[in-house]
Amino acid sequence: MRCPFCGNLDTQVKDSRPAEDHVAIRRRRFCPACGGRFTTYERVQLRDLVVIKSNGRREDFDRPKLERSVRISMQKRPIEPERVDQMISGIVRRLESMGETDIGSKQIGEIVMEALARIDTVAYVRFASVYKNFQAADDFDKFVSELRPQTPPED
Ligand SMILES: [Zn+2]
Repeated sequence: MRCPFCGNLDTQVKDSRPAEDHVAIRRRRFCPACGGRFTTYERVQLRDLVVIKSNGRREDFDRPKLERSVRISMQKRPIEPERVDQMISGIVRRLESMGETDIGSKQIGEIVMEALARIDTVAYVRFASVYKNFQAADDFDKFVSELRPQTPPED
């Protein structure tokens, strides 16, 4: 694995252990060339997914990108990072088992919102507000008031 700091190819694994309830292997790596430390995750990938964006462009599905947008919506919320990892793995597993290689970004957004709604209403509203790209505050208020009566119970 190439060092992300200096590009050296000869990095060492210092520690490997199961993560996310044994869905992933987490490896701590060390670069002897620059002293850099980084972490990699090994996960089962059932199929290579391609995201079809709303403008019709295709790009490879990027789990870290999905993670970033989900984590932004969860900032300062009392949710265990491990639970977020599990949720994201669940989302990816769902996408992979849909039977299609090409998946619309809209479809992904809806699956993410569904999963977030089960975990945290605030995170859900934050994500949805970005995802639905509200232009006016009125739209957002309307959306939130529609949301309230059907706030899903904690499971
Ligand atoms: Zn390095």
